[in-house]
Amino acid sequence: MAMKTEILTLLRESGDYISGQELCGRFHVSRTAVWKVMKQLQQEGYIIEAVRNKGYMLKENPDVLTRSELKSRIHNRWAGNEIYFYEETGSTNIDAKRLGEEGAPHGTVVAADKQNSGRGRRGRTWESPAGKDIYFTILLRPEFPPDKAAGLTLVMALSVVQAIEEECGMEAGIKWPNDVVMNGKKVCGILTELTTETDYIQYVVTGVGINVNLEVMPEEIDETATSLLLEGGKRIGRAGLLQKVLKKFEGNYEKYAKSLDMALLEDEYNARLVNRDRQVRVLDPKGEWEGIARGINASGELLVEKETGETVEVYAGEVSVRGLYGYV
Ligand code: ATP
Repeated sequence: MAMKTEILTLLRESGDYISGQELCGRFHVSRTAVWKVMKQLQQEGYIIEAVRNKGYMLKENPDVLTRSELKSRIHNRWAGNEIYFYEETGSTNIDAKRLGEEGAPHGTVVAADKQNSGRGRRGRTWESPAGKDIYFTILLRPEFPPDKAAGLTLVMALSVVQAIEEECGMEAGIKWPNDVVMNGKKVCGILTELTTETDYIQYVVTGVGINVNLEVMPEEIDETATSLLLEGGKRIGRAGLLQKVLKKFEGNYEKYAKSLDMALLEDEYNARLVNRDRQVRVLDPKGEWEGIARGINASGELLVEKETGETVEVYAGEVSVRGLYGYV
């Protein structure tokens, strides 16, 4: 870990003054070198107080999204242990695929403050303005067959909702398969893409966009999208939330990989499913139809009950589901 990152971790974890001398001794550098790091951190937005004979203290940790901030928070077994951060990029999924080709390890994360060509399913645009939201992609190298990869989208959706609950104290729901919603509007979208080699997975990338501190929605999505700030009325630290999502994902992924289905996560997922017991319209390219959503099964398929009483297992790859009177 770079000195700056380590100093940031020490300041945050101690919550108290740390003497300049102690830091000099620890890193074998001069007082001026320590002071320079503090200046850099202050320029990035951290409020650090320097008091003679006491040392330095982190008074406020504003919503800074940088590599150091992420590094200083993420201490997982594999999710996010390698992290790339860009102020601006085309799409974190594309970056992660490139890293996948280059042999980056399982759990590598690419995060960005702004995306210039963020995408959703079927190539649709994901609005990704700067300074407000979270855009990240995790690169995975699962040892299971390709047809099990679609479930990772569900695993991520559950992880995002759990992280919002724990980190922000807010309730969110899942709109099967891949959207996180609040008040009937989308706060997060997830896109999983797969690269296979005949019948095994070379790598998977799961990309996530979370609307965090956006005060005004871009016009194109104003009716169907919202942000954590708009719903909860308070600003959320993005790095802390991202860390929590990764931590939850690591645990949930391991459960998924153990049973190779949603069996260990199904109840947690269904408990948060907003479409549950609601009338939905299944936008199947082969023909749209309606029924009542009953929850997912262990394979991650949505069980939709038709008027005839027949229950159909809807597979996420093919369709979108809509509420009868709107998006949910
Ligand atoms: P559905 O299943 O509801 O049709 P989806 O899950 O397939 O949607 P995606 O393709 O993942 O949706 O996301 C792209 C869509 O999300 C866009 O067409 C747009 O309507 C909407 N969108 C784009 N940017 C954002 C954003 N920042 N927040 C919320 N919604 C967005």
